[in-house]
Amino acid sequence: MTTKWRGSFAPDSGRGGSPGGHRPVCTVLAALLVAAVGSGCASGSGGQPGDTGHRDRPAVGHPGGEPAAGHPGGPGRRAGEARVPGGVHENAKLSPAVRAALAKKWGLEKPPLIAPRPPAVKPRITTREGFEVEGGDDSLPPVFTTVPTRDRVVFLTMDDGSEKDPELLQMMDELDIPYSAFLSDHVVNNNYGYFSEAQRLGVTLNNHTLTHPYLPGLSYAEQEREICDEQEIIEKWFGKRPRLFRPPYGNYNRDTLRIAKSCGVKAVPLWNAEAFPDRMEWREEDEDLHPGDIILTHFRGRAEWGGSMTDLVRAVMKTVTDRGYAVARLEDYV
Ligand SMILES: [Zn+2]
Repeated sequence: MTTKWRGSFAPDSGRGGSPGGHRPVCTVLAALLVAAVGSGCASGSGGQPGDTGHRDRPAVGHPGGEPAAGHPGGPGRRAGEARVPGGVHENAKLSPAVRAALAKKWGLEKPPLIAPRPPAVKPRITTREGFEVEGGDDSLPPVFTTVPTRDRVVFLTMDDGSEKDPELLQMMDELDIPYSAFLSDHVVNNNYGYFSEAQRLGVTLNNHTLTHPYLPGLSYAEQEREICDEQEIIEKWFGKRPRLFRPPYGNYNRDTLRIAKSCGVKAVPLWNAEAFPDRMEWREEDEDLHPGDIILTHFRGRAEWGGSMTDLVRAVMKTVTDRGYAVARLEDYV
């Protein structure tokens, strides 16, 4: 297993650096959105990305707090308008020039590829060979690393929740890159507001236990607390009971799957590749992506892995796009 959870809390500051240096966020778009120049995109309009630190309700859309003319609330939506999962990819509505400008703004060489429309019927998913539990059967939630599909898509998943970078939410929204969060309550650390904002922007919040333990080392009752209490917390704070559960470190046993099923979990997605700001780690010997692969990464900051969340996204999107894949929404397929 490749995951290396470190369990430290995110620093409150120390992030910094917008793509390409501390430019006003609207500089690039202003060239295209001529009418916007001099309004929300004027320089000196306020804070820079990365200087906002922790707070419960990040000002998504413009780090300076002012509405940014031309791209309020992400591509193709009005400010404050929530994303509707399962719809057509919003970037499909934007011109190639605007998509190129958004990519450049965030330091990507190429715009993300546009995912195809999600399948009308979700594929039937079974447990990957070699990932079965002793004494298990087909009634347990399936454990898998790749979603069966011929679409040239991969899925981005982010675990734990220690780093809460407002710039990440803005970047993913503007570039329209879907991702799914797997939260562990002790590193969310009562900062539910950050993930409420992520949820409003279309991120599904899933279960990754209360305290991130090695589950097979726990009793049935202890595992039940870790898994089912986290179901309750997510439902209480975010209004939706998770359907997906990921065991810490990818370690589980039959009790894990029985308990997860008992409190509403339908599937247990693991991962086939793990993304870091400076590299990928692969499960398969071919060290490549495959249609339907699930990519794991984490909410981590500079202190934990030497890069910001936006550095991480730039790195993983370069790999994904260069290899000809689009990122699709996991919950549209699972
Ligand atoms: Zn984890």
